[in-house]
Parts: sequence; C-alpha cells; structure tokens
Amino acid sequence: MIDQEDFIAREEDPRESMETMERVSNKLADLFGGMNHEVPLLLFTDPFINGQYCEAVRTIIRGVRELSHKVTLREYGLDHQLAQQYHVTHSPTLLFDPEHYFIRWLGAPMGQEGRTFVEAITMLGYRKTGISKPSEKILEKITSPRAIKLFVSPTCPYCPQQAVNALKAAIAGPDKISLEIIDIQANPELTEQYNALAVPICYANEILIARGAQPEELFMASLEKLEQQNFFIPESDAEQVDTDLTIIGGGPAGLTAGIYAARSGLKAVIIERGALGGQVALTPVVENYPGFAQIDGKTLVDIMVNHALQYVPIFPDEEVMEIHTGPPFEILTNRRRYSARAVLLATGASYRHLNVPGEERFAGSGVSYCSTCDGALFKGKEVVVVGGGDSALTDALYLANNDIRVTIVHRRDTFRAQDHLVNQLPQHNIKVLYNTEIKEILGDTKVEEVVLHNKQTGETSTKRTDGVFIAIGFEPATELARKTGIDLTDDGFIKCDDNHRTSIPGIYSAGDVEGGYRQIVTAAGHGSGAAITIFEDLVNPYWTAPGKK
Ligand code: FAD
Ligand code: NAP
Repeated sequence: MIDQEDFIAREEDPRESMETMERVSNKLADLFGGMNHEVPLLLFTDPFINGQYCEAVRTIIRGVRELSHKVTLREYGLDHQLAQQYHVTHSPTLLFDPEHYFIRWLGAPMGQEGRTFVEAITMLGYRKTGISKPSEKILEKITSPRAIKLFVSPTCPYCPQQAVNALKAAIAGPDKISLEIIDIQANPELTEQYNALAVPICYANEILIARGAQPEELFMASLEKLEQQNFFIPESDAEQVDTDLTIIGGGPAGLTAGIYAARSGLKAVIIERGALGGQVALTPVVENYPGFAQIDGKTLVDIMVNHALQYVPIFPDEEVMEIHTGPPFEILTNRRRYSARAVLLATGASYRHLNVPGEERFAGSGVSYCSTCDGALFKGKEVVVVGGGDSALTDALYLANNDIRVTIVHRRDTFRAQDHLVNQLPQHNIKVLYNTEIKEILGDTKVEEVVLHNKQTGETSTKRTDGVFIAIGFEPATELARKTGIDLTDDGFIKCDDNHRTSIPGIYSAGDVEGGYRQIVTAAGHGSGAAITIFEDLVNPYWTAPGKK
C-alpha cells in the first residue's frame, strides 16, 4: 500500500524535501481517511530509559493522529498498574489495540520501520491484512500458541517485509499468535540475549524460526513448523491428477527422477508421505556428495527440492496406499487419485534399529548407521560395530582402515558375512566379541560406554567407546511393491533389471529400495537412470515389442 521510497531519508534541497513531506502527508491522509475501526495505541515509557526513543514514538504518533482521528494514544509510566497488567517491562513499548490483539513495539518505529508502522495502523484500521489464501491455510493448521519475537533495525531495508508478515499472522490469528517487534538499537540487552546480530531475525516460542526476510507463505510455514522453511508447496484441491509418470517417494532418487522426467517432456509428479528429501533430511552432515565438501542434510535437501520444484509438482504429506496396475495405472493416496502411464517406486529404506536405551538419544552424537558418512569423525578413536553380516564387517574394515580401533559385537558365535571379509579381520586388528549383545548405550552429551551382555556366560560388563556403529540390516520400504505384486529379491529389496524395470511392465524402481550401495549419490544416479529408461519405454514400450516380457 505504501511506497517504501517515501520513507527513506535522502539529501535533497529544502524545497524538494517540503514537497516530498507534503506528498507523503497527503498519501497517508488518503490511506488513513477510509479507516473504519479505531486503532487505540498505549505507550509505556520511563523518562530515564531510552528518553530519545520515547520522544520519537510520541512525535511519530502525533503526526499520525493529525491525519486520522481513528488513531488514539494513551501514555503511561512503566510503574503504572496497566504496565503490570500488560506485562510491559521495556521503555518505550507501544501496544496496538491491546483489547483485541497482542502486538507490541519495543523501541521507536523510525527509519525503514516507518513503513511497518503505517502498515500496522492501516491493517488494524481497516481490519484487513491482505494475507494470501495459502498463508491463511497454513495459519489454520496452527493449533497451539505462537509467541513471535522479531528483531529489526531502522536501517534495515529487509526488515519491513518480515515485520509485515508477522503483523499479518498476529492480526489474522489474534487468539493464538502474539508479536513483539524489537528494535535492536533501543534494546541492546534483548539483542545480546537473542544473539540478534543480523536482522531481521525471528523467534517463535523462543525457537529461531527465520533469518532474513521471507516470502509471506514461507514465514507462515516457518511459524507453523517452528523451524525455518526454505520452500513452499501450495496445497492442491485436485481430486484426480493425470500424469505420464507418478513418482512415489521424495528422496534423492525420486527428486532426481522428477527433474529428468520433466526435462524429457514427461508430465511427472512426486508424491511424498513424510519429510521431503527422505533420509537425507535426517542426516546431520553429508561429506561425500560431490560439490559439497560439507553440508548439513536439510540444506542439501532444500537445494534438491527447490531444484525439483522448478520442473515438477510435488504433493507432500500424501501417502500412496495402492497401485492398480495398468497402463494406465491408478495410484491411490490418502487424499486423491493419480493416473499414470508409468510408475516409479523410489520409496527408500531405513536402517534397522537395535531398540536399546540410549540408541535414539545418542543418534548423531556417537551412534551412527553409516560408516562411510560418519567414520572420519572417529579418526584415532575407538568404536564398536554391531552386527555379523556383510555390512557390519565392511563397516568394521572401512573404519579400521581409517585409523580407528574397532571391536565387533555380534550376537552369535559365527558370522553371516562372506569368508573373505571375515578373514581380513585379524590383519586389521579388529577384535570380536561373539555371543554378545548391547543392552544399553551410556554417556553424558555423547556416547561414552556400552553395557554388554554375554549370552553364553550370562555376564554383564561395560566397555568404554567413542562410537557405536549399528549395521544390523536394512528395512526397505516395500509394502507397496509387495501389495502390487512386484517381485522382491531374497534380501527383501525390489527386484529390477539394470534399467530399473521391475517385474511389472510400466513400474520402475530407484534408490535404496533396490538395495546396493545406499548412498545419496547412487540414489540420485538411479533416479536419473530410471527416468531416462521410462522416457524411452514410453516412446517405444518394450512390453509391446514382439518376444519381450
Ligand atoms: P529415501 O531417502 O529413503 O527416500 C524415500 C522416500 O520415499 C521417503 O521420504 C519416504 O517417506 C517416501 N515414501 C516411502 N513410501 C512412500 C509411500 N507409500 N508414499 C509416499 N512416499 C513414500 N548417504 C550418503 O551418501 N552420505 C551420507 O552422509 C549419508 N548419511 C546418512 C545418514 C543417515 C542417518 C541415514 C539414515 C542415511 C544416510 N545416507 C547417506 C544414506 C542416504 O540418505 C540414502 O542412501 C538416500 O537417502 C536414499 O535415497 P532414496 O531416495 O532411495 O530413499
Ligand atoms: P544382514 O545380512 O541381514 O545381517 C544383519 C546382521 O545383523 C546379522 O549378523 C544379524 O545377526 C545381525 N542382527 C540383526 N538384527 C539384530 C539385532 N536386533 N541385534 C543384534 N544383531 C542383529 O544385513 P547386512 O549385513 O546389512 O546385509 C544386507 C545385504 O546386503 C546382504 O545381502 C549382504 O550380502 C549385502 N551387502 C553386501 C556387502 C558386500 O558385498 N561387501 C556389503 C554390505 C551388504 P544374525 O547373524 O544372528 O542373524
């Protein structure tokens, strides 16, 4: 509504500056003129604290009141009982219509913040925020209170955008959303307490939810999830979606397949039931994805998702329940139906868990399921590897090769792993505790020791260790494949050929659900390979060629 340029101080000759003032005044008078609601303001001050900011707020409000009788001001000392009633402790603090909203400004709305202040007055005066429909839908999902603290500065050109987002949330959801806009210059102690060194920075319920200014929907989504969101996917009302390719699973395999399929001209969609990015979204640090020497999994996922969204629609929070074979295939989720000429299962796998006390608590703090991912963090240290299959022994050898002292803990007296792996253990000084189970993982902030139980002797002991690598197998997400009648391997993964074709023509697989190396880069490779095959097969269906399956 307001042109930001109007509020930015520039060096001008006095005549020009008078003209600008008059222009701004007229514009504001027009803007405030149509307001149909009172905007009561309560100002709390202490003459001995931030005196110049108190005077600045008064001057600004005086100016606004000259333009609109709808704006009223009452001023109280910090020692007044109303300050106690409203829990006001900082001078100056300005409350906006406190009977109806919890919106307060700690400091003075000067400089760039003038725009935010005018937006606040007009949103309240018109009872209109201009909030988008998708933002409203996100706010509807918020069921518990959100207390926003937004740190801003009069010299920050990005702050008003985020402040306006926060105002929209607080005005649209007054029963659950409160807002404090905190000017860092007038509130150095709070600024230090919240480490608000770069503005805008936003906390909700004391959790950091956003750095920098965000598009409105991303702000609302961050507020809802209480975590910074970096992509926004609008909800779709469609009951039926027609596609060439429906991709099930939004991990690296599915996302890559989506990019490749769409770039080949296929109408593709990705359906994801849980966290976009799959297992990567849960990975603290990735150090082996080319192009990124070190990146946290969530950031890598955000980059992948944003890239995929440039090409392919993603349907989040949706679980595929059934696939009715075709073509055309019919894919049923908990929300809608899809029709597709081909289907890609990129449903992933998850590491099997030991399910002992301490495992969940120390995941990422000494408990690991991926030696190639986390091994380097234990160089020169001591770890235990749990399991007796190929994974456990491969992990143990990998770790020992990286200057780590390794003990394998295996529940039986013989290994399931291949002999050539077993035979290498002595030359790498890998100790083995047979017939032994881990009963508990202990430590303070990270793993320090494990409680062991010898099944033969019945003895219980503890062993000091810096890490616990759990390699007791994988559980591929194959329920859907199983239900659809797709063949699985003896290890329980989806059976496919080198081109990712499964036993049912028109249905393909990619990524961890196929087994193999189970890495991000291999999952992405599978995704691209599968999408290329699918494109070629849809152009020239192998299942209709004479003599083919
Ligand atoms: P996933 O990432 O598992 O994604 C599959 C997706 O499909 C999931 O999001 C799931 O919710 C969805 N899905 C399943 N069924 C359905 C359904 N019915 N409807 C809708 N959606 C469905 N690899 C590395 O290269 N480097 C590392 O540093 C590394 N660290 C790791 C650390 C941890 C803790 C873990 C768990 C794994 C790590 N990995 C690492 C392995 C890597 O994350 C996986 O190999 C990779 O994510 C596999 O990708 P994917 O797309 O095949 O499957
Ligand atoms: P796996 O073969 O199923 O072995 C799992 C191991 O963990 C077994 O030794 C099992 O003990 C043990 N285990 C299972 N649940 C346990 C629990 N709750 N507590 C303690 N121990 C438990 O799984 P994997 O080793 O991951 O291998 C999976 C597949 O990938 C296999 O086909 C394997 O050949 C293949 N793979 C190959 C290579 C390679 O060729 N280098 C490397 C890795 C994986 P029991 O023995 O008592 O059952």
